[in-house]
Amino acid sequence: MTILTDNRPQDGESLAQYLRRVRTSLKMSQGEMATKAGLHIQSLGKIEAGKTTRLNGKTKAGLSRALGIPEDYLDALCRGVPVTSVQHLKICPQCWSPGSSAEPIWLDPRSKYCFICGTSLIDRCPSCQELIPSLKFRFCGYCGQPYKKISNYDSHIRLGSI
Ligand SMILES: [Zn+2]
Ligand SMILES: [Zn+2]
Repeated sequence: MTILTDNRPQDGESLAQYLRRVRTSLKMSQGEMATKAGLHIQSLGKIEAGKTTRLNGKTKAGLSRALGIPEDYLDALCRGVPVTSVQHLKICPQCWSPGSSAEPIWLDPRSKYCFICGTSLIDRCPSCQELIPSLKFRFCGYCGQPYKKISNYDSHIRLGSI
């Protein structure tokens, strides 16, 4: 499934506004989306009209499937908290360069491996297991280890080319 990069909820966006925006961007009618999500069109209508923000597990799973969005986004919107607070930073220790932002697809809760090189993504320091607090830091603030891994593979290539 393709994950759109602009499908994150925006600041101050309500659940209703968000669902309408993503649905429109996918050029789906309310009826089509209800069918895809396994919902009654009336139920979807109520959610999109902002009459309810209580979604049960089945509804959340259906909407996330129909729109190709993580359920975490819906959770955050229902609870009225920013999406970032339910999400950890995740980076590829090979491809990430310190100080740069993470690729949106690394942050997707379903991503476990880097889409570029296939390395397991990390959300914590490999040596002390503390979560990565910010991508501004090159080194772990707790134990001083660099987050970016200098792999043996890379150094072999470098040595080989000298
Ligand atoms: Zn990578
Ligand atoms: Zn550490």
